[in-house]
This record gives sequence, structure tokens and C-alpha cells, in this order.
Amino acid sequence: MRAEILDGRKVAAQVKAALKEEVTQLKGRGLTPGLAVILVGDDPASQVYVGNKEKACRAVGIASFPHRLPAATGEEHLLQLIGRLNADPAVHGILVQLPLPRQLDANRVIQAIDPAKDVDGFHPVNAGRLAAGLPAFVPCTPQGVMHLLAAYNIPVAGRHAVVVGRSNIVGKPLVQLLLAADATVTVCHSKTRDLAAFTRTADILVAAVGRPRLITRDMVKPGAVVVDVGINRLPEGLVGDVDFEAVREVARYITPVPGGVGPLTIAMLLKNTLAAALAGRGGGPRGE
Ligand code: NDP
Repeated sequence: MRAEILDGRKVAAQVKAALKEEVTQLKGRGLTPGLAVILVGDDPASQVYVGNKEKACRAVGIASFPHRLPAATGEEHLLQLIGRLNADPAVHGILVQLPLPRQLDANRVIQAIDPAKDVDGFHPVNAGRLAAGLPAFVPCTPQGVMHLLAAYNIPVAGRHAVVVGRSNIVGKPLVQLLLAADATVTVCHSKTRDLAAFTRTADILVAAVGRPRLITRDMVKPGAVVVDVGINRLPEGLVGDVDFEAVREVARYITPVPGGVGPLTIAMLLKNTLAAALAGRGGGPRGE
């Protein structure tokens, strides 16, 4: 069996086209969704991510408000900026690109964001609401994974999903989303003993680790759906956490890197920003 590719670029383009129409309509009613993007320091990967997010905003008509701060920025300065953005009616979403330089406490910074503008879904209020099954801003990457599965009509209910990785950004929220979609979920991490014994039982296997080609062919059940969230920069280019060419021979579906989950992540960020604007926060016209 040679796996069918889950084409994240194609699905993301569809999402963005629909969002563009919605944004155009909203603008006609006097509301322009706005996203503030804060980048501290000059990490090259972060610069690329932030640039891509700003470009994607422009492409669908969302106003982007970039804030590029020097690496030596103090926490009070950053918190004050977030305070101003929280109060700015033109800003519906606020994103702080991670990782932050060492002197900044990411938890404090994230908790300073108004949960109603937390389009990354990292604020503990949104994480808690997600875990409790309440409406919440859902982190973009796990939301993108679920969207990709749905776009290919891949059933989740009753299936065994194994998530490798338990970060607050990807693994944990993905576990919540899979549970909410009625999967039976196993979470693996760096202390898991005999990782392969778990991954081999997965109907849906998600790798969100950051270790190049950690998931090898022998770790995958024939016919499984394999979603590769990992982005690893090697001299030969970007690779995922899955040994793509070999695993492709046994899986039923597989995401490529790049071109899989990544494009969906940005599309979900735009979707969250539109939702924030529609929620009427940030001073959008009442009754929208
Ligand atoms: P983190 O480093 O925060 O988390 C990595 C997780 O993998 C941890 O839970 C860690 O376990 C676990 N882990 C590490 N080594 C192993 C191992 N050998 N076996 C099993 N589990 C292991 O990373 P993120 O969640 O932020 O990101 C994961 C990957 O996804 C990265 O490559 C990142 O670049 C990529 N990414 C891609 C995005 C996209 O848009 N496509 C968006 C966000 C991230 P423990 O908890 O025990 O330390």
C-alpha cells in the first residue's frame, strides 16, 4: 500500500478562500478583523513564521499590526505593550511568537493577553475551557490537524489515536480535541518506555516531537493515518518527525513536511482572528 497524501496546502487554500469572502463581507459592514503580531528578538525561524502569518493576514484582508522588539526587551515593556493591545479596539487577536528570549517568562506574558484576544489559544483560561468542553480559542496546530482529518473524511470516533508529544501548544490540546471527537487516546512522551509498542497500535498516529524521522516504518501499523507535526531543520532541508518515504509504504494516509500540517496552522490562526472579531470584542460594532 502506498499512502495517500494529506495535502495541507490544498486544504489551507480552501479555508483561506472561504475566510477571504467572510472578511470582505465584514469589512462591508465596517469591521476589519485585526491581528497584532509580536516578535521579540531575531530568531531566524520565528522571523519566517511571523512573516508568513503577516502575509497570510494580508491575503485574506485581515489587518496585521506587527510589533518587532529587540532581543533585550524587558518584561515590563512587553507587558505594557500587551496591555495597550488588549485595550485597542482595532486589535481583535494578539499573538506573541514563541520561543521568547530567556529573560522573558512566557507564562506571564501569555497570561497578560486578554483571553478574548488569545487567538493562539495558549492562555490558561482557553486551555481550561477546551479541557472542560466549553467554547474556547483552540491552539492552531492541533485545530489544523483535526481540520485536515475532517477534510479527507477520515473517521476519528472509536479509533485509537496515539499522540507522541505532550506540549501545551500541540500534544495536550490535540488530546482534548481527539477525545472530544470520541477517539480513544494514548499520549506518549520522552519518558514513555517502548514507544514503538504504543505507536504500532495506532489507527491515527500523530508525531509532535521535534526529532527528525523518529517514527520509522516498523513503528506504524499497516493502514494507519500518520500525521507529522514535526518541523526539523537539517542541512538537506526541512524534515518531519516521520521517516516519510518508508512510512508512506505502509500507511493509508500521510502528511508531508513541508506542506502538511504547517499551512493549516496559519489558516486556523486566521480563522481564530475572524472569530475573535465576530465575538464583538475589541470594540467591533455592537450587534455584529
Ligand atoms: P516541545 O519540544 O514543546 O514538545 C516535544 C514533545 O515531544 C514533548 O512532550 C517531549 O516529551 C516529547 N519527546 C521528546 N523526545 C521524545 C522521544 N524521543 N520520544 C517520545 N517523545 C519525545 O515541541 P512542540 O510540541 O512545540 O513541537 C513539536 C514539533 O512540532 C516541533 O518539531 C515543532 O517545530 C513542530 N511544530 C510544528 C508546527 C506546525 O505548524 N506544523 C507548530 C508547532 C510546532 P517530554 O514532555 O517528556 O519532554
